[in-house]
Amino acid sequence: MGKRYSGRFAPSPTGLLHPGSLVAALASWLDAKAHQGVWHVRIEDVDPPRCVKGADQAILEQLSACLLLPDGAVQWQSQRQEAYAYALQSLLDKGWAYACACSRKEIDTNQVQAAMRHQAPVYAGTCREGLKGKPARAWRMNVQAVQSALNMPATSLWQDRRLGKQSQNLAQEVGDFVLKRADGFWAYQLAVVVDDGAQSISHVVRGEDLADNTARQILLPRALGLATPAYLHTPLVLGANGEKLSKQNQAQALDLSQPLLAMNQAAQVLGMPSHPGPLPKALAAWTQMWAQTFAAG
Ligand SMILES: [Zn+2]
Repeated sequence: MGKRYSGRFAPSPTGLLHPGSLVAALASWLDAKAHQGVWHVRIEDVDPPRCVKGADQAILEQLSACLLLPDGAVQWQSQRQEAYAYALQSLLDKGWAYACACSRKEIDTNQVQAAMRHQAPVYAGTCREGLKGKPARAWRMNVQAVQSALNMPATSLWQDRRLGKQSQNLAQEVGDFVLKRADGFWAYQLAVVVDDGAQSISHVVRGEDLADNTARQILLPRALGLATPAYLHTPLVLGANGEKLSKQNQAQALDLSQPLLAMNQAAQVLGMPSHPGPLPKALAAWTQMWAQTFAAG
């Protein structure tokens, strides 16, 4: 303990917030407030082809209507290219990252073979020993080089503050993951870890759909000499078909003419009772409940 609490909500501006993303926003806000922390908002516009013009401002307005107000300036990942380049270079310098020349087709073919061998679609490590004269397309993490240099076990073990004990064998289940993509854009994994480090994020609270990234986001900060945050993954909002609500399957945007109603629905997903309002009182009540449910970890 004694570590200053710093949390964040990091939406991708691929559309408006929907009920599922509001759950993650509310949970991360409550966790920060319950532990006397600061709450940052970071716009994850690291994947320009998927971003929608104006969605960032619209999301900030939605958060504001819900009284989820960031402490300090909002950050945009599109303005952080130099920091990502610096991080990649530091990994390359140590031999912990390498260029990959594989085309998507070659990777797909190798993945099929890998799947038959290991029952998991992982990158086969084709370019780990060099490009043999082929041009670099993407850059990848050398997972096993980092694990062995830092004396990390092959199977990462960690405690999720809601899901409990978690584990993943990165080399077998994920492989050497991409840090910079063949289309020239930064991979989410690198950007999020560099930004969490730069903002001294101590606690990550986000949707359970992102839980599978956690082992990569424990390895990367270690490799970059950054502190690893504590993780808490929130329940997902499921649609009538039982699938996760997302912008991709046309989740309805929030009706923010009634922010209390939208926030009550989000609170219920998090296992808290709805509140008659007004919204500031509801937020205060939920913050108290949250503090009793989740120690800072
Ligand atoms: Zn390759």
